[in-house]
Amino acid sequence: MYLERLNPQQRMAVEHGTLTDGSHVAGPLLVIAGAGSGKTNTLAHRVAHLILKGADPRRILLMTFSRRAAAEMGRRVERICGEVLGKNSGIMADALAWSGTFHGIGARLLRDYAEQIGLDPAFSIHDREDSADLMNLVRHELGFSKTESRFPTKGTCLAIYSRAVNSEAELPLVLRDAFPWCATWEKQLRELFACYVEAKQSQNVLDYDDLLLYWAQMVAEPMIAEDIGSRFDHVLVDEYQDTNKLQSSILLALKPTGQGLTVVGDDAQSIYSFRAATVRNILDFPASFSPAANIVTLDRNYRSTQPILAAANAVIDLASERFTKNLWTERESPERPRLVTVRDENDQARYVADKVLDNREEGVKLKSQAVLFRASHHSGPLEVELTRRNIPFVKFGGLKFLDSAHVKDMLAALRFAQNPRDRVAGFRLMQILPGVGPSTAQKVLDHMAEDPSPVTALAAMPAPPRSGDDWTSFVSTMQELKTGKAGWPAEIELVRQWYEPHLERLYEDASARLADLIQLEQIAGGYASRERFLTELTLDPPDATSDQAGVPLLDEDYLILSTIHSAKGQEWTKVFMLNVIDGCIPSDLAVGTTAEIEEERRLLYVAMTRAKDSLDLVVPQRFFTYGQNSQGDRHVYASRSRFIPATLLQFFEVCGWPQVKTDTAAAQQARQVRIDVGARMRGMWR
Ligand code: ATP
Ligand code: MG
Repeated sequence: MYLERLNPQQRMAVEHGTLTDGSHVAGPLLVIAGAGSGKTNTLAHRVAHLILKGADPRRILLMTFSRRAAAEMGRRVERICGEVLGKNSGIMADALAWSGTFHGIGARLLRDYAEQIGLDPAFSIHDREDSADLMNLVRHELGFSKTESRFPTKGTCLAIYSRAVNSEAELPLVLRDAFPWCATWEKQLRELFACYVEAKQSQNVLDYDDLLLYWAQMVAEPMIAEDIGSRFDHVLVDEYQDTNKLQSSILLALKPTGQGLTVVGDDAQSIYSFRAATVRNILDFPASFSPAANIVTLDRNYRSTQPILAAANAVIDLASERFTKNLWTERESPERPRLVTVRDENDQARYVADKVLDNREEGVKLKSQAVLFRASHHSGPLEVELTRRNIPFVKFGGLKFLDSAHVKDMLAALRFAQNPRDRVAGFRLMQILPGVGPSTAQKVLDHMAEDPSPVTALAAMPAPPRSGDDWTSFVSTMQELKTGKAGWPAEIELVRQWYEPHLERLYEDASARLADLIQLEQIAGGYASRERFLTELTLDPPDATSDQAGVPLLDEDYLILSTIHSAKGQEWTKVFMLNVIDGCIPSDLAVGTTAEIEEERRLLYVAMTRAKDSLDLVVPQRFFTYGQNSQGDRHVYASRSRFIPATLLQFFEVCGWPQVKTDTAAAQQARQVRIDVGARMRGMWR
């Protein structure tokens, strides 16, 4: 039985508040526990348990950090329910309809309640790049970028705006704490942000932050909060340490007494404060729901071997804040984690590729191995090496499939069809047409914006000079999309047919790009509607792969490359961590305050605790930096990360690579190899 494989504390959390007659009286529950102690597993068991005890899965709201994590949780719940009810119980499939990320769920609720809050439900969602583009447009309109040459870049402006929104903090405070060098621009920034908000509203677009902000605003209205709150008997949140103030205020509005609310997390793994996440949410949970809050702590780690856990504990023990959890494990192993010094990043890449293949030979699938790094660009040399050796890989948290220009063009067309007021989409789209430049595009969009029926206004406009047939086909495609006759996903083919001649005109490698677009159509087939497709793709795009099309080859074996941030909550049999040097971890962008340094330490802790059986921290002696000084790119001599001082070396097997191999040593080794050819031959036919 599923409850029997849990330890007593886990079981307490799973059964919390469920009575044998199936009724639920669950008061607020917090599970706060260290890495690999089974928090996520416990949450999955709890959801399954609630369902098995009669809870309606459609009335369960489950929020995880990524869509991938939500899907994985769904599969686990289904498996557990299947164990009890038999494989074909049919209890799940898509019954757990309300599981996803905060942002994804927010988008759905906002569309549901759009009319009540004066929002057009056809709103489109801007990803960070679109948001930066819009910020830039507004900035230009206000003339800040021209007159004030040292005005913050569009990215910085967006970061300041986003931080202020997410932390619900006043602008001067945000500037003082996080962007002191921009403080002199406070007045202009205030004006810029006001215009940015207006632009978003008049164009009917929401950015990432708006999804939470509007949601929080919406549930600040008690009637709506109650209505939404009453749709869900249970609200469960994983990785609660990385939520921000808006998110906790949303939860509080939905479940003011905490009845039916379960959150799990680990304060030692809080790594998103740069996006205004606050560890206070988890620490203050007991007080927010006092005296009703129930707290369960878990202290047994099931993931890692004892030597790996000991090393990770040692790293986090040096933190200036004390984390009270003391993890233990029964997984004994003679193998300490390795601290491997290599000459430079190229050797680092060769080392990792060699080891990955060795592991593969020993039967550890590529998928059970991961290479982690602090920043996405750290994996560059490794990607080259893997490609050279034909080792397939998927990269999480890196360059996204959707970032390629041709895919963005297609999506812009769909977005524009969905919401013809979306200027960033329209601006991009029109400039694909020959003869249409920025100023013409502006004029057309201005004209459309004034009309209550923008597509009709577009159709009535004369074609810009030199764009003749291309203009006509653009307009007629938009009109056809507006009628919705083609239906979903067929209409994406319509867009492709319109776009293909442009693709051929614009790109030399048009045929490779066309393959991407066909892939995109296949992905689209998996979504129920254009709106769901656009929303989910924007919020949580598929990961980049070594495969040209950029779509994960789900059935095949591939190595995982991931930033630490994107590796959250996951585990692999073998883990490699690149560039365990000062400047990379802690990142040299983050050495300002103690708080920043401490977050970098927690990042290393998160990375180390992803490993089940083996962990290699690689330390290149030289590191390539890009244009950080007046001489441009250069090598710098690197030193081991300060988070592993000499006192911690005892927890590692310290070694260097490559070991010097003379010919004779190699020959000796060859002689020592014994193989059973007969067994191999028999194996071939098994
Ligand atoms: P993180 O802090 O990294 O998110 P977590 O606390 O969520 O970790 P899980 O991912 O749920 O931990 O579990 C870690 C591993 O331990 C998983 O492989 C899980 O299957 C296993 N595990 C959890 N509980 C038990 C248990 N009671 N018995 C055996 N294995 C368990
Ligand atoms: Mg987890």
